[in-house]
Amino acid sequence: METVILKADRKNILKCAEMLRNGDVVAFPTETVYGLGANALDGDAAKKIFKAKGRPATNPLIIHVADKHQIDDVAYVSDAAKKLIDKFMPGALTLVLPKKSNVPDIVTAGFDTVAVRMPDHPVALRLISEAGVPVCAPSANTSARPSPTQAEHVYDDLNGKIPVILDGGMCPLGLESTIVDMTKTPPKVLRAGAVDIDKVAAEIGELDTEKVMVDTLSALKVPVGYVPKAELVFSAYYDNMSEVINKYYDSSENMHGSRPVIFCRNENADKYGDRKVMLMGGSVTEYAKLLFERIREAEKSDYNLIIAEGVPMGGMGTTLLSRLIKLSGGKVI
Ligand code: AMP
Ligand code: MG
Repeated sequence: METVILKADRKNILKCAEMLRNGDVVAFPTETVYGLGANALDGDAAKKIFKAKGRPATNPLIIHVADKHQIDDVAYVSDAAKKLIDKFMPGALTLVLPKKSNVPDIVTAGFDTVAVRMPDHPVALRLISEAGVPVCAPSANTSARPSPTQAEHVYDDLNGKIPVILDGGMCPLGLESTIVDMTKTPPKVLRAGAVDIDKVAAEIGELDTEKVMVDTLSALKVPVGYVPKAELVFSAYYDNMSEVINKYYDSSENMHGSRPVIFCRNENADKYGDRKVMLMGGSVTEYAKLLFERIREAEKSDYNLIIAEGVPMGGMGTTLLSRLIKLSGGKVI
């Protein structure tokens, strides 16, 4: 199959909406990362997503809607969920809710719950609303690769496996959604993502964050999640972080065939002398936004060791650290 990249203009969005209605898959931009979408009410269409990504059938998909009321078509909404929907949607918060029976088992991997989100991106919203059906969509990468934040990343992973990629440019947040399971008491954070979990907690009171912490700690022992082609290590966050990183860089560079690069905040760039650096912006949020993109850039430039600066815990720092731990398999220097 030939994969075409289409500019996300009105005509192409309509074309892709029709493809979704006809049971095809379409890669499209959202504010978090690119998604690979299919009609969420069509089990055969959803199956194509798992096949293209090489995604295990045990990993459920997120249903994307174009309108808050469309959530009622696929899930039962509690009062607490309604509060979060009103506050954070459209946006990068996914809620796990009891599912309605019209959602095929393949979409939820057999669970009686369903994950739902309303993306805050004009192309995604237009596409879903023109399709006229809710759209299930995981990230449009090959399973276990870093999530794609540009159409080109999707092409690199899925060329030949999907018919079309709607190109809407770079994803503004560059990082997956935060997932909260509203069927648990207190609601449970399943993934720290682009919405700060402290802000979610502020809205509904108690929030169970133990899973995020436990997953993060267990990734230190058993590497899980993404597999970058370049090895990644990261520094703990402290005052003389750059000295530790420089020492690690210099000793790695002396090893045969090693091509290290440092991921650093803009303000720290001159602490690394002539060493190769890639800039991660001026804030933790920007760092998080650029992470997946820079990894793919480093891989393309044939760097084979990424030494990433650490950041303080808390807020988006927690999200970023959870990604660095996953990507590195817990290799902290
Ligand atoms: P992705 O969109 O590729 O980030 O994958 C969707 C994420 O949502 C996965 O981590 C799933 O485990 C999670 N997810 C989707 N549906 C459910 C559900 N019903 N219960 C718990 N987690 C879910
Ligand atoms: Mg994913």
